[in-house]
Amino acid sequence: MNPWKIPYKTTCFNCKKNVNQIVEIYLNQAFVKCENCGATRYYILRNTYIDEGNIIEEEKNRKSKYEPWLLETEIKCFNCEKKCIQDILITEYGLFVRCKCCKFTRHYMFHMINISK
Ligand SMILES: [Zn+2]
Ligand SMILES: [Zn+2]
Repeated sequence: MNPWKIPYKTTCFNCKKNVNQIVEIYLNQAFVKCENCGATRYYILRNTYIDEGNIIEEEKNRKSKYEPWLLETEIKCFNCEKKCIQDILITEYGLFVRCKCCKFTRHYMFHMINISK
């Protein structure tokens, strides 16, 4: 399976510049890397499930120090294999990917930050 690589332009938490953050999603892990300063956040797959509620909304509204990022990308789903909108939510605690078609959800847990180039 090819990883997803999605650019998201926002203010970097590290260099404070408004530049592309590259969101790379693999089956078992995910990375978010700043194109300018190289600061990288690592996430590790914690679990997968069919989300009957709305985990994206819940996690988006959770109190956190940094503004969560919400990306909506049309891409081939890991689970139902249809080209469908995937909600991708990135917070300081974790990264969530949820397919709008089949509700299949992947929860990645925040692991570490590497801010050296
Ligand atoms: Zn940066
Ligand atoms: Zn799906």
